[in-house]
Amino acid sequence: TSAADAVRPLIRTIPDFPKPGIQFRDITTLLADAYGLRAATHGLAELAACHPCDVIAGIEARGFIFGSALAVEVGCGFVPLRKPGKLPVDTIGEDYQLEYGEARLELDPTLIVDGARVLLVDDLLATGGTAVAGARLLRRAGAVVEQALFVIDLPDLPGRGALSAEGVEAHALIAFE
Ligand code: 5GP
Repeated sequence: TSAADAVRPLIRTIPDFPKPGIQFRDITTLLADAYGLRAATHGLAELAACHPCDVIAGIEARGFIFGSALAVEVGCGFVPLRKPGKLPVDTIGEDYQLEYGEARLELDPTLIVDGARVLLVDDLLATGGTAVAGARLLRRAGAVVEQALFVIDLPDLPGRGALSAEGVEAHALIAFE
């Protein structure tokens, strides 16, 4: 799409971050560009149009940026999936494995209406560990989670398959092989 053509050249690739051998796809150059940010938001909205939802859930931190922009664009609310210890109320949490070490997402389950169709949003899909944890967490709070949107997919990594095995369909604006 034209949105993808506008977004792709605005992603900056940083070699060897956060460790040797990793090509980090940096979206801050996209965010700083007025046309790029709008193109990314509109592109995500085009993907979202095929999958009506009641609320958008974004994953801390970059999923907050695209997720909240998308929520405004499509006219629904936004729920944050947060890193541990940030929410001021009782939470439920989902632990998951990163390539090295452990991580956890937390949610205030009272923000989810039982049976709500939740669209999961993050900036990038790699192994899928983060998004799978997010989907599980939302479901434990009563959400129906069938679709996830990303700005970037890394199709050489198993994220799409991991989400599919969980019953979640992944959609991305662009892919980096
Ligand atoms: P996964 O859990 O799918 O392996 O990794 C995806 C998560 O890690 C996302 O929350 C994403 O923000 C972050 N991430 C991993 N690699 C990159 C990258 O190259 N660029 C960006 N912007 N985020 C990344």
